[in-house]
Amino acid sequence: MTDYPHLLAPLDLGFARLPNRVLMGSMHTGLEERGDWDRVAEFYGLRARGGVGLIVTGGMAPNPEGGVFPGAAGLYSAGDIANHRRVTDRVHAEGGRIAMQILHAGRYAYSPDCVAPSALKSPISPFPPKALDEAGIEKQIADIATAAARAREAGYDGVEVMGSEGYFLNQFLVRHTNRREDGWGGSYENRMRLPLEVVARVRAAVGPDFILIYRLSMIDLVPDGSSFDEVIELAQRVEAAGATILNTGIGWHEARVPTIATSVPRAGFAWVTQKLMGKVGIPVVTSNRINTPEIAEGLLAGGAADMVSMARPFLADPDFVAKARSGRAREIAPCIACNQACLDHTFSGKVSTCLVNPRACFETELRYEAAATPRRIAVVGAGPAGLSAALVAAGRGHAVTLFDRAASLGGQLNMARRIPGKEEFDGLVDWFATMVAREGIALKLGAEARVEDLLSYDAVVLATGVLPRDPGIAGQDLPHVISYVDLLAGGAEAGPRVAVVGAGGIGFDVAEYLVTGDSPTRDPALWRAEWGVADPARHRGGLAPEGPRPEPPRRAVTLLQRKAEKPGKRLGKTTGWIHRAALQMKGVTMLSGVTYDRITPEGIEISLGPDRRLIAADTVVLCAGQEPERSLAADLEAAGIAHHVIGGADVAAELDAKRAIDQGARLAATL
Ligand code: NAP
Ligand code: SF4
Repeated sequence: MTDYPHLLAPLDLGFARLPNRVLMGSMHTGLEERGDWDRVAEFYGLRARGGVGLIVTGGMAPNPEGGVFPGAAGLYSAGDIANHRRVTDRVHAEGGRIAMQILHAGRYAYSPDCVAPSALKSPISPFPPKALDEAGIEKQIADIATAAARAREAGYDGVEVMGSEGYFLNQFLVRHTNRREDGWGGSYENRMRLPLEVVARVRAAVGPDFILIYRLSMIDLVPDGSSFDEVIELAQRVEAAGATILNTGIGWHEARVPTIATSVPRAGFAWVTQKLMGKVGIPVVTSNRINTPEIAEGLLAGGAADMVSMARPFLADPDFVAKARSGRAREIAPCIACNQACLDHTFSGKVSTCLVNPRACFETELRYEAAATPRRIAVVGAGPAGLSAALVAAGRGHAVTLFDRAASLGGQLNMARRIPGKEEFDGLVDWFATMVAREGIALKLGAEARVEDLLSYDAVVLATGVLPRDPGIAGQDLPHVISYVDLLAGGAEAGPRVAVVGAGGIGFDVAEYLVTGDSPTRDPALWRAEWGVADPARHRGGLAPEGPRPEPPRRAVTLLQRKAEKPGKRLGKTTGWIHRAALQMKGVTMLSGVTYDRITPEGIEISLGPDRRLIAADTVVLCAGQEPERSLAADLEAAGIAHHVIGGADVAAELDAKRAIDQGARLAATL
């Protein structure tokens, strides 16, 4: 008997049977563009081995003009087929099934050659698209159908036609981007024509016994988006045109509403998919912020969908399904929806990977092989770097002892988890605790490790983390000045007016903590009000006409930095805008280019150019960055004990959990 009877139930598609209801959603890996097809094959092969029902690849362009950027991966020449064949062979050898996503970016293509229904530049691209003429439209449809036929030739079990997130097909559907007055624009019938023609032509190209998923934008979250009646009509017509499965798309990329970030409530958009249930005869997939088997099971049991799509959770853990099936759900490495190593990498031109699982997309080079000689290893510091090193070392067969002066595991993660919108860190800390117990790691918590405690080990790893930087501001010893550690870990209280010194990741987090009452991430209705999300059946595109309605801030906060640049500029590439918008909505004042003159009982005196002013504050919170804490290293050196230093203890600047976990894992893979 399983805990997940709905999730693990097979799905009969008539000509094919999926073993369960889990679809691995499309993600860009960045490996295909590097021609690293063995790595691509290994990446998908491991996910197939882990038991996922159906894999969808990252988006593949049907032609050069449709690529997300020049040189983007695609299947637009017969020569590409052999590369794709390596992937499908590997997945099939593992007993899996894989569909290729065909992604035509339209005006979202980062290229001067981009094309669209109308010559309207998108707000997220510098390139105005060319409006297609009749022949150009026919070429795009033909290229998409040819790509589908080639996908079949390459051994795929199906294709997913990307019709959502504001890409090419989506651009035809709504007046927001389609201002044509010919047979491809104007009425909804005309605006639907291109997506429907694409589905029909793809079906004709691949034959009847081939999976055809259509990803349909069910809530556009842009002005003048689709009404829900239009969504239903499109779904029914897409089914009639030959689709096998309907997948859910949520929000265009240019939408100013977060759709997958960690602060989005779990399964926060499943209600949209549910509105389509019963309106079509083919299986419907729900998506976005689903990251545990419990949530997925609940959605299916509650009738929100026939199948569940999870994408990033398969970066975090290729064995998600196998672990759920075998009663080991607590061992599933959780995707915390941070985007730090996946989407942020994609948008920086780097290979995607995962903060929680540094092996993701690096499976061929980062191997955790059984140690030839098991050794006794001491890891000092149970933050992300130390935990990662301890787990990998123990997994390889070493006898590991983990020390921390704190009484519990997690280090800085325990501060992150206190921030409203960062609740996913709870699951990460729990997972580390589960895995530490499972790997039989000995724990020495609640006492400072000293040199004499470490003498008997074969190897010592120092992961002692960081200390808050002392900014040396006159008056910082006054009683109303606290550090972020006092606030987030020490239980210090803040008054109604707060000045935050330092607008890095932690300054932003502290500001969020200070202004937010009940976390909207835990309250979907509150969250929707906060971001202005409405029922698309009542308001086109699902945007509330009154706009965002955030709760009033709990405190008046001023966030300060010395650099002249925009505050939050260095936050995550795909999430920084969310943090900035959230604080702006709460009325947080952000000042750049300040000089701190002194802190007084009234607040903090700053200079802003020639201007001197007092920021009145009852509390001043110092978030001025961090310095490595490696005092133990000096003692070990003095005693002649070799040791490895990782994480913040190694380099504190720009430290985050991604680097800490990666460095810990990579070191432990070599011990
Ligand atoms: P940080 O991002 O380096 O920010 C430090 C802040 O302190 C900056 O605003 C800096 O700006 C200021 N500062 C530096 N030296 C100062 C001094 N001597 N006096 C006064 N101000 C000073 O460090 P953090 O905020 O401690 O965060 C640590 C790491 O965790 C970072 O890598 C961060 O990205 C990561 N993190 C990320 C997130 C996230 O949301 N992704 C959240 C939390 C933490 P000025 O020098 O211009 O004043
Ligand atoms: Fe999830 Fe973050 Fe890993 Fe991306 S990097 S898969 S969001 S945990």
